Amino acid sequence: MTKAEKLKEIAGRVAKCTRCSLYERANKPVPGDGSPEAEVMFIGEGPGYHEDQQGLPFVGAAGKLLDKLLQLIKLARKEVFIGNVIKHRPENNRDPLPEEIEACRSFLDEQIQIIEPKIIVTLGRFSMNKFLPGEKISLIHGQARYVDFLGKRYIIIPMYHPAAALRNGRIMEEIKKDFQKIKQFLEEAPGEIVEEKKRNEQMELI
Ligand code: URA
Repeated sequence: MTKAEKLKEIAGRVAKCTRCSLYERANKPVPGDGSPEAEVMFIGEGPGYHEDQQGLPFVGAAGKLLDKLLQLIKLARKEVFIGNVIKHRPENNRDPLPEEIEACRSFLDEQIQIIEPKIIVTLGRFSMNKFLPGEKISLIHGQARYVDFLGKRYIIIPMYHPAAALRNGRIMEEIKKDFQKIKQFLEEAPGEIVEEKKRNEQMELI
């Protein structure tokens, strides 16, 4: 199977998934979208209203900002892959529950293993916690780190969620600066990587 076929097969399983109750109220599943060959993978939190309507990630207000941020660094949306920690919309856009994240975990893990991006950009604390549990986004946003994940080393760059940038002008400035890091790591040999600290294996939601 090609990478594209493998991703499609996962999307098929997401569409039928009943591991948690989110599917009951959701309109469409949002498995993720983009290039199977992406060098950069963005991981958000979960679908909101517009994503749930269209079955596509980041197509609402936060998605429009993500598009602009991608334009700033001259990356086309079709060149990257955009996914989420959970694949069905939680009612009223509430935070995902730990058991929902756990139920959905293997789908995202499989997507990462298929795409094998060079850089994973986490958007918001839920996706940051997947790779960097116990960290605080306000302290480490924009800092690239090597993280060994399922047998492969990835450059993880944690960033604020675009929705947070829409609510707060200071965060907007930070996220614009942080996005430049993506370009830097795609173009140059990585120089400025924070050594990963010894971390607690247990996932702590902060
Ligand atoms: N916010 C997210 O975290 N993901 C989406 O797909 C849309 C908004």
